[in-house]
Amino acid sequence: KPVVAVVGRPNVGKSTLVNRILGRREAVVQDVPGVTRDRVSYDAIWNGREFVVVDTGGWASDAEGMAARIAEQAELAISAADAVLFVVDATVGTLDEDEAVVRVLRESRKPVVLAANKVDDARAEAEAAAMWNLGLGEPYAVSAMHGRGTGDLLDAVLEALPEAPRGTFEEVRGPRRVAIVGKPNVGKSSLLNKLAGSERSVVDDASGTTVDPVDELVELDGQVYQFVDTAGLRKRVREASGHEYYASLRTQGAIERAEICVMVIDSNETVSDQDMRILTSVAEAGRGLVLVFNKWDLTDEERRYYLEREIERDLRAYAWAPRVNMSALTGSHLNRLGKVIETAVSGWEQRISTGKLNAFLGRLVASHPHPVRGGKQPRILFGTQAQSGPPTFILFTSGDLDATYLRYVERRLREEFGFPGTPIHLQVRARE
Ligand code: GDP
Repeated sequence: KPVVAVVGRPNVGKSTLVNRILGRREAVVQDVPGVTRDRVSYDAIWNGREFVVVDTGGWASDAEGMAARIAEQAELAISAADAVLFVVDATVGTLDEDEAVVRVLRESRKPVVLAANKVDDARAEAEAAAMWNLGLGEPYAVSAMHGRGTGDLLDAVLEALPEAPRGTFEEVRGPRRVAIVGKPNVGKSSLLNKLAGSERSVVDDASGTTVDPVDELVELDGQVYQFVDTAGLRKRVREASGHEYYASLRTQGAIERAEICVMVIDSNETVSDQDMRILTSVAEAGRGLVLVFNKWDLTDEERRYYLEREIERDLRAYAWAPRVNMSALTGSHLNRLGKVIETAVSGWEQRISTGKLNAFLGRLVASHPHPVRGGKQPRILFGTQAQSGPPTFILFTSGDLDATYLRYVERRLREEFGFPGTPIHLQVRARE
């Protein structure tokens, strides 16, 4: 699906316009400054054409340095988009923050549609016309609030989009959603800060509160990712780390919203039950997985030796997850993260054609049939990959398969096709 990024400074009405585009009145808009929304990308449809709307809003206004930050996040959203819907407030005119975004837009060379918002009646049309001065072409006078002019605007947006995507197998879509998970104090916040640039933590000095975006767009190796639920990692004052119950609730929420999980483990501690619970949640939810062994700067040779053994023993079930040893503190090996996330995304999205799968299953069944159970020998008759993200296979069989055999099938699937960085879900349909 083509991606439309909605950009503009705070309070121009981006969220209201996004709601209008989505054709619903869900409470995405927050009137309280500093309160942020929980998502940034939405599926939309207009005139039968589907597209993804990426909303870059969610940051409160009027703090120093805010213009730069907005421009920065807008830049990431724009780079991931096929077209940009730039929203200005016709009743206010253009401000410095608008100009900052315009510069980013010019450099991006992406098609831009200009919406002059808050034109609630015909009298305000003249103000919209003044927006020609931005040099972005015709300003579409709209009222996101009342719906005035939004139909014409959407027509223009669709026109700006590239033709329907060429016949790629996988859908083209918005940025992949990534969650940083792990026990308290393993360095999740440090990692996020290093990735996003710590200076970007948004503080509204006027009110003395920390204003955190819930999600952040981060570019790694030329690929933009949406890091979800980062607010908890951004807060200056976090709950005491002892509140494991709340921490695990938040972790669960982050896993639910993500497609790929970056599991951070402290290299200097033995893998704990809490780590294992988080990993189980990730695998059961069917999310892609990357393992980060953090605080590597504190390990010595002896520790590394034992860590290797512990991984071998305790994390054997996750041997498919790509690993990085790094230091979020010094930034060492941080540059390897993009690559492993990309690997996990590729495994998570991987699809095997039914033909190839069944050729493989035929060989597997011939070379390694299921053991006889109670006088019967269940057989895999046929298989199909029902889904990717995560790869989910349905095996049609002549009887129930035991767990050992299923693990064997999974292992062979990985040997044959890879599936790095993703759990594989196998479903058996037994025909007794
Ligand atoms: P979180 O609870 O998982 O978000 O952990 P934090 O990011 O708050 O980090 C906990 C502590 O570990 C802080 O004192 C960090 O400075 C420290 N820390 C994080 N990453 C590293 C690292 O790679 N090396 C070292 N030496 N310390 C780290």
